[in-house]
Amino acid sequence: MGFTRRDFGLSAAAGLAAAAVPGWASARINLGNKRIETVSDGYLTLPPEFLFDGLEPDALQQALKQYGLPAGPLTPEVNVTLLREEGRVVLFDAGAGPGFQDSAGNLTGALEVLGVTPDQVTHVVFTHCHPDHLWGVLDDFDDLLFPGAAYLMGQGEWEYWFDPKTADSIGSSRTAMAIGARRRMEQLEDKVQLFRDGEEILPGVAAHATPGHTPGHMSFEVRDGSNSVLVLGDAVGNHHVSFADPGRPVGADQEPQTAAAARMRLLDRLAAEQMQLIGYHLPGGGIGRAERIGSGYRFVPAV
Ligand SMILES: [Zn+2]
Repeated sequence: MGFTRRDFGLSAAAGLAAAAVPGWASARINLGNKRIETVSDGYLTLPPEFLFDGLEPDALQQALKQYGLPAGPLTPEVNVTLLREEGRVVLFDAGAGPGFQDSAGNLTGALEVLGVTPDQVTHVVFTHCHPDHLWGVLDDFDDLLFPGAAYLMGQGEWEYWFDPKTADSIGSSRTAMAIGARRRMEQLEDKVQLFRDGEEILPGVAAHATPGHTPGHMSFEVRDGSNSVLVLGDAVGNHHVSFADPGRPVGADQEPQTAAAARMRLLDRLAAEQMQLIGYHLPGGGIGRAERIGSGYRFVPAV
């Protein structure tokens, strides 16, 4: 159950081997026959306003200080979850791919360190359609990077971003995101398998609707008996304000109030059940737990 000393030893050894890949980080969880770890796609470079929307400069600096963040750009990790078991190699999200940010798009290199090649991937499961999660499905030549994979996405998320009208209605700050998503999705159209909230999408993997960050955002509960881990995607998108003050609206969320409600529900459950979690942008590879502290929570990394 959970982490063992042996697991930490193994991931430390893998970490040494991966030293040449910048930003690579991994911890490991064994759930029955399922082996789950995270592989680094790199990191993002974001202006602080991206999170702390609408604050005056002084208030922004104060907020950054309050959460122990640098005054300059935020550089959150990008952690793709890899699940391996007999007959299946599953990725949760596909990374940013080429052409989004120079500091991201390293997934192929990180997988290689674990001995996984793109043609071995059997399933790519999406939390949502933002660039750092979706754009990595295409390689440098705009071909599908994982040619043998089935692609799984929540129906609502697919319908929202595949609709050509979304680019006009989403608002100017997100137009490029919508156009970019649609372009990648056109290549997935013949292959994608859509699912709904509550469905078991693969053996031992259930989808949970966690809307708000995007309209159809999904998280995934991977379970073996009484042990489980929640793959959060961006439903809890950072280790600072979204844990300490989960009800506070965050600029990165498309529907901030809906996202805050989903986040509070998730953290309440994660802390109460002391369930393992994986966050796409959480530090140290993103694996850990949530612990209640004061009126909020804190992220407790596994490594
Ligand atoms: Zn993201």
